[in-house]
Amino acid sequence: MDFLRPTTWAEALAAKADRPEAVPIQGGTDVMVELNFDRRRPEALLDLTRVAELREWETLPGYCRVGAGVPYATVIDELSGPLPGLAQASRTVGSPQIRNRGGVGGNLGAASPAGDSHPPLLAAGAVVEVESRDRGVRTVPAAEFYLGPKRSALEPDELIRAVRVPPATGPQYFSKVGTRNAMVIAVCSFAVALHPGERRVGTGIGSAGPTPLRALEAEDLLARELDWDAPLDPALARRFGELAARAAAPIDDVRGTAAYRVHAVGVLARRTLTWAWNDHREERAA
Ligand SMILES: Cc1cc2nc3c(=O)[nH]c(=O)nc-3n(C[C@H](O)[C@H](O)[C@H](O)COP(=O)(O)OP(=O)(O)OC[C@H]3O[C@@H](n4cnc5c(N)ncnc54)[C@H](O)[C@@H]3O)c2cc1C
Repeated sequence: MDFLRPTTWAEALAAKADRPEAVPIQGGTDVMVELNFDRRRPEALLDLTRVAELREWETLPGYCRVGAGVPYATVIDELSGPLPGLAQASRTVGSPQIRNRGGVGGNLGAASPAGDSHPPLLAAGAVVEVESRDRGVRTVPAAEFYLGPKRSALEPDELIRAVRVPPATGPQYFSKVGTRNAMVIAVCSFAVALHPGERRVGTGIGSAGPTPLRALEAEDLLARELDWDAPLDPALARRFGELAARAAAPIDDVRGTAAYRVHAVGVLARRTLTWAWNDHREERAA
């Protein structure tokens, strides 16, 4: 197995263009599991850890640009202000060791429907920045990035450069059901992001479908019926939960049954909306 070690982004793109079969490795918390269990034996690994700019994040007009190599620990320590939903989800990933090495770029690269960063990225309206040597930069909305279980819109000669996430303009919440409290892949998860300026609520469902999903009918319901100046009507929150549950398309597997996941997504949706709404009311009253 060849081990390619670019030190700059340009070298990394050139290596991927010349060897599209090379498997990128950043934190390695997914890739090394696959190698160790012999699920995958790639001809080449493309080690991105020396490409310093991938570990940087910056605030630009309209969004935070989080490099593909920024680990969860940094999202938690430095980005919980502008990106509270993503930071909450990051706190639930694995263990401190996994959060120090793994990050959002690898989560996107793996494109597992159970990846914890996906629901908050969908709810916030994030855009994935990908690049190839020959065609340059392409931006893909998170909602169009996930194509199927562990399949994404990334072309073989492309690498993920960063994810662009609009900073929160209202409360955001992420909640996850697991079979235990830590070191657990989600049975299902849900994220909400309130966008008060647009009178809109964004959503993301994890681990309850072939890809991460948005609960579009539930979002539409709130766009039509939510009174942004009033307490949350419990009946509206219940209907939001029901429509979110309807958006889920889970399967039975070792972590949970489809029926349980549908039910749990509804509960998580109602709860996260209620928490976010309570924060929104408190912020307005302060
Ligand atoms: C013990 C354990 C617990 C875990 N718990 C969780 C959890 O709770 N929640 C969760 O979501 N995940 C969990 N994971 C999975 C993993 O930690 C995450 O998916 C993490 O985000 C992967 O990031 P990484 O940098 O380690 O990716 P890597 O393993 O380096 O790469 C993952 C995938 O992305 C590709 N890739 C990496 N960088 C790029 C790039 N720049 N461009 C294109 N493709 C790229 C790789 O080729 C690979 O396919 C866990 C893993 C372990 C081992």
